[in-house]
Amino acid sequence: MRWSFPVGRLFGIPIRIHFTFLLLLAFIWYAETSVQGPGAGLYSLVFWTLIFACVLLHELGHSLVAQSYGLTIASIILLPIGGVSQITDIPRDPIKEVAITIAGPMVNFLIAGVLLLFGKMLDPSLQFAEISLQSGSMVVDLFWANVMLGLFNIVPAYPMDGGRILRGIIAMKKEYTEATRLAADVGKIFAIGFMIAGFFYNWWLILIGIFVFSVANSEVQATVLSSRLEKIGVRDLLITDFTTISPDEPLTAVVEKSLHTFQNDFPVLENGRFVGILTRSSVIESLHHRLHDRRVGDIAKRNFPTILPEATAAEALTAMRNADVTVAPVERDGILYGIITMEKLLEASDVLNEK
Ligand SMILES: [Zn+2]
Repeated sequence: MRWSFPVGRLFGIPIRIHFTFLLLLAFIWYAETSVQGPGAGLYSLVFWTLIFACVLLHELGHSLVAQSYGLTIASIILLPIGGVSQITDIPRDPIKEVAITIAGPMVNFLIAGVLLLFGKMLDPSLQFAEISLQSGSMVVDLFWANVMLGLFNIVPAYPMDGGRILRGIIAMKKEYTEATRLAADVGKIFAIGFMIAGFFYNWWLILIGIFVFSVANSEVQATVLSSRLEKIGVRDLLITDFTTISPDEPLTAVVEKSLHTFQNDFPVLENGRFVGILTRSSVIESLHHRLHDRRVGDIAKRNFPTILPEATAAEALTAMRNADVTVAPVERDGILYGIITMEKLLEASDVLNEK
């Protein structure tokens, strides 16, 4: 994700922080310090840092259950509105999805339980009864923050955790795409509710409402797309007639070639083997920076997925999305069968839609 930077790894999972998140911390510290003094500023800074540590633990809850099913977690990103675990290839298995999803809010309830237990043990005078984030006690504030985080996340507003659990439950009875559509519709109703409530209570809810609404829409589209593409094989969409380019050609040669083809992206072949992808945009960018003397090999993208000829179009789409490429080789045992492009996949989905 853009504007995020790595801070380390936990259980082999790269942890990233979005820079707006640091802006938020700085803003909270500044606002509290200027209104209530340096003591209050420091308290808020520590409190919010700990809240985000809890958000990180929540995400680790999802990620570790996913890892136990053998899934890969590309990264965990901390954003001002919460965390995101980027789990690749989430299984279309409602039970696994529910287990992965429910683990997040459970972590918050667990943290709340631990805070209550140890808080009472160490200081029996602590008052947990009243809902407050400004009780003056860090333990009580964090307790309530975690209770709220847990409760808020199980609101069935897809794509929030509760909505995913709802989708999983519906998917046990209905078809997956249909289940996603229904859960997203419920999610959108909640999103509108959040936005309206945001005007009266807390503008944060407006942001969350916008987020829920837009992600609900795009996830439905993505699910519809991949369920259509499950029915066709990569073989049916294979492009076998295409212009290739070799790593030691100058960029100017690519410009020349691109004038004679519809192709946007060029497979880079060395001795008949697929070694990289050169996109039109990377060529334009290099030329824009007056790097005319560059060669194809210098700017070609080297990490790309290899698609097997018997894969479904949906599998190709997922692999290409995860690697963020628009073209990939279809090959097995070093034999190149052809290439597959994102454009071709989307086009196939449109054709299926019209049928
Ligand atoms: Zn979650």
